[in-house]
Amino acid sequence: MRISGATQLVGLIGWPVSHSGSPAMHAAAAEALNLDLAYVPLPVRSQDLGQAIRGLAALGFLGANVTIPYKQSALDYMDELDPASEVIGAINTIVVDRKGGSESASPLLRGYNTDWSGFLRDLDEQGWNPENKECLILGAGGAARAVAYGLLARWARVTVASRRKKQGESVAARLGASLGNEPPHSIELSSVSDYCSHTKPDLIVNATPLGMAPKFDHSAWPADTAYPEGALVYDLVYQPVETKLMRDARAAGCHVSNGLGMLVQQGALAFELWTGKRPDMEIMVAALE
Ligand code: NAP
Repeated sequence: MRISGATQLVGLIGWPVSHSGSPAMHAAAAEALNLDLAYVPLPVRSQDLGQAIRGLAALGFLGANVTIPYKQSALDYMDELDPASEVIGAINTIVVDRKGGSESASPLLRGYNTDWSGFLRDLDEQGWNPENKECLILGAGGAARAVAYGLLARWARVTVASRRKKQGESVAARLGASLGNEPPHSIELSSVSDYCSHTKPDLIVNATPLGMAPKFDHSAWPADTAYPEGALVYDLVYQPVETKLMRDARAAGCHVSNGLGMLVQQGALAFELWTGKRPDMEIMVAALE
């Protein structure tokens, strides 16, 4: 695209950000809609996070995405949070709202989380309904919380397996009170085999970075545990497009998915928040590939 004097800006705040596919994905979406919009990488050091986020409003940005390692700490700089990001305790999207305040007032920074809704949209695309399903999430970080929130919102039963017991328990405590349905259970990753001996998960989600390039031969699934046949194994990792977890699970008769669909869906939801326009998903996928 050609930058003009009227080009509107959106950024990606994280550290590092050079590996991200989001600039290509959003640039393609904006071009297809004939929008004069540029999505720029903003590598920000942790000590500069507050200044960088406040600077979005000062520099006229429409907003930004927030990625690792700031999804949680960026929350502190928001004027308002949508209800889901407040419960999840993490944001991945900032909208600079100039309409909310008067002419002289500073714009408001609104924080959103589109990871949970992007994940659900991708499950919907795959025709997979979480209602009353047994779901096991491996990992208990920010993405695990978002996925657990989405599944609980759609009336699934959720168990979070973490290597640090306290982390899993805090996810369960945080989400337990929020939605008014059955709270998530928490177990240790080392107890997954035991869990599978009495419960057959319909969905297994890898929300750890294990298996991500360049550590292709790693998997969060315990080596001593058989995969539950027929389950959907959803790896949030999308580089490589087929992880060891996905390969092993497919060989054992499971359905598998990588995190590419969620990445595109969460990006599309953020794009809609900034521009009010729905992007073409196929164009976004093609740009990522
Ligand atoms: P995070 O907040 O750092 O959480 C990572 C979780 O994985 C933590 O519970 C961590 O436990 C655990 N973990 C890390 N290394 C482990 C290991 N060797 N063995 C067992 N557990 C381990 O990261 P996140 O933001 O949740 O992201 C998790 C993954 O999801 C990343 O690969 C990210 O790229 C992916 N993701 C994908 C999308 C998408 O759109 N597809 C969106 C968001 C995230 P400790 O705290 O003990 O280290």
